Amino acid sequence: MTQNWDVIIVGGGLAGYVAANYLGKNNLSVLLLDKGKTTGGRAKTNKINQQYFNIGPHALYKKGKAHSILEELDITLHGKSPKLDGILLENKTEFAAPFSPLGLFSTNLLTWKERIEWGTVLWKLMNTNPDKLANLTFHQWVKEVTNSKKIESLLYTLGRLATYCHAPEVMSAKVTVSHLKNAIGGVRYIDGGWQTIIDQLHNQAILSGVQVQPSTLVKQIESGERKPFKLVLSNDEEIVGKYVIYTGGPREWNEMLLDEGLLEHNGFLDEILPIRGATLDVALTKLPNPKHLFAMGITDPLYYSVHSTYAQLSDDPTSTVLHVLKYHHPDDHVDGSSEKIKLEQFLSAIQPGWQQYVITQRFLPNITVNQRLPQVGDESKLQRFKTQIAGLYFAGDWASPNYVLAEGAVSSGKQAAEDIIIKQKERR
Ligand SMILES: Cc1cc2nc3c(=O)[nH]c(=O)nc-3n(C[C@H](O)[C@H](O)[C@H](O)COP(=O)(O)OP(=O)(O)OC[C@H]3O[C@@H](n4cnc5c(N)ncnc54)[C@H](O)[C@@H]3O)c2cc1C
Repeated sequence: MTQNWDVIIVGGGLAGYVAANYLGKNNLSVLLLDKGKTTGGRAKTNKINQQYFNIGPHALYKKGKAHSILEELDITLHGKSPKLDGILLENKTEFAAPFSPLGLFSTNLLTWKERIEWGTVLWKLMNTNPDKLANLTFHQWVKEVTNSKKIESLLYTLGRLATYCHAPEVMSAKVTVSHLKNAIGGVRYIDGGWQTIIDQLHNQAILSGVQVQPSTLVKQIESGERKPFKLVLSNDEEIVGKYVIYTGGPREWNEMLLDEGLLEHNGFLDEILPIRGATLDVALTKLPNPKHLFAMGITDPLYYSVHSTYAQLSDDPTSTVLHVLKYHHPDDHVDGSSEKIKLEQFLSAIQPGWQQYVITQRFLPNITVNQRLPQVGDESKLQRFKTQIAGLYFAGDWASPNYVLAEGAVSSGKQAAEDIIIKQKERR
């Protein structure tokens, strides 16, 4: 039996659920499909023993688009903000991170002259309009603002922290600087993990009449001369909708539409590179060195942060949940066992003897953090691509020209829903 919907959303991650929430409020019949057994995508939180593990470290920018859109949707965001003062590691030597006034004052990484220059560079960063950097890579922008190798590597370290992207020579300065400005405005770790965001979005969507169907893989999107769209599921069932929002990966979409001749071959989608990383999520009975709550490598692209100090992430308040991450370069050949050793060694340098206190741990060697590494020129390519098929929209962390991560997912989900609401009003 063929069912008819106003809107079919493919994917129940942040982008799909945000779109569903806006559409549901506008009295459209909405079906959200997800191939996973449960929805949530990469914003899921797994409860392992008594601990809540996000899929790697997840922090929400307080001044970002996602935060404000989620608040607009009445999503409660409990959890505190981590301090940016921590340590930086270079060849096993520790330095105070000059990312806070206290860190800047106390660090022995920089001479007094360099501290003044670093302060000036940060001031410039905060006062730069990212839109003016559309034609520059992050590397080119960094070269414009400093000649100092040390300050250059500090900017790259902060760039990785803000975007998870470890490729200054190709990543867009516009996107990186705008995310850096957000990151300096602070982040929030979320009590109970990001699943609490998904759960609230899910419940609100259901209350507004959205139907959610997990364990459903969409394998084709078809459209004849006359709309509506026909979606073919993996069990060959067909579903019909006036509008479709697709929130899966860009390559899969290219293939799904190409097969049906809906789209001319789009080289851009083939070329999109993901941002990837390796994560070690760890729960400990205690921290060997309770003073070390945040650390990054300077040359080594590594991250460490104790999330449970700022968010409730365990049913047992005495335990600690922390995340270690390695930012992969797009050219990295990832060998799982050597990546794991790197992460464990980094953790040992910060928390010697941590292995004695392990409650549980999870290692993911090569996870997609963001579906698109943002490059110069993506903006116009995405724009051109967006308008190709009337009624068919894409959203997700790769879909927004100006943002990545949850910023991109949430803002593009809202944008797709708003476009449909306007089109639907025009049709009436
Ligand atoms: C290790 C790690 C750390 C991160 N840290 C941060 C952070 O600190 N801050 C931040 O803002 N972001 C962070 N992110 C990124 C953030 O989690 C993602 O950008 C966001 O969750 C993506 O949402 P999405 O809806 O675009 O995609 P997804 O979450 O991937 O959702 C897409 C959904 O579509 C479904 N789907 C795909 N294809 C089909 C199909 N054909 N049929 C049916 N269903 C389909 C999938 O099952 C999935 O559930 C991190 C991600 C990772 C992995």
